[in-house]
Amino acid sequence: MLNSFQHHIIKTLKQVQGDGIKPTTMKIAIFPGSFDPITKGHQDIILRALPLFDKIIVAVGKNTSKKYMYSQEQRVKWIKAVFARHKKVSVDSFDGLTVDYCKKVKANYILRGLRTAADFEFERSIGQINKAMQPGIETIFLLTSPELSAINSTIVRDIVINHGDASQFVPKEVNLKIK
Ligand code: ADP
Repeated sequence: MLNSFQHHIIKTLKQVQGDGIKPTTMKIAIFPGSFDPITKGHQDIILRALPLFDKIIVAVGKNTSKKYMYSQEQRVKWIKAVFARHKKVSVDSFDGLTVDYCKKVKANYILRGLRTAADFEFERSIGQINKAMQPGIETIFLLTSPELSAINSTIVRDIVINHGDASQFVPKEVNLKIK
């Protein structure tokens, strides 16, 4: 008779494939947001979260009642360009509840960034409600890097609307000219 540990070892060995052992549970996180447009603040959170997860899906919100400055297609395209060399990062769009999207893509973590106390209050209630709806999904917060904490997409959009140069706040792959 095999004990449960031996069963586990056999199961793991069965998963050995050409490129190595596939862990039984992939740590998949989604990083949901508007990314209108992606900024150096978002980029920093994703890069710092990379060692924590096997896969990060940057999930671009498709909220019909929200007015975006840049099209869904453009926002996704920019994020894909920024992370083109990072195999662990993929980009997708989603609508509906974040926890439902997590279930769809088998993500067990929601990644969010925290800049201010206001962010914390907002994120706390969403995180707790998401946890109540889907106890298996944890929200993981990373604190903003101090030098990037002032950057947000709203300010970037304001600069663009007023014909200023916001390029220092966004990754180099992002060309902010309104199309
Ligand atoms: P949302 O509309 O959901 O707020 P955003 O695109 O504004 O979407 O933000 C997505 C996530 O990125 C949020 O968790 C937000 O706190 C985080 N974020 C945005 N800007 C920064 C920054 N400068 N530093 C750290 N996290 C940030």
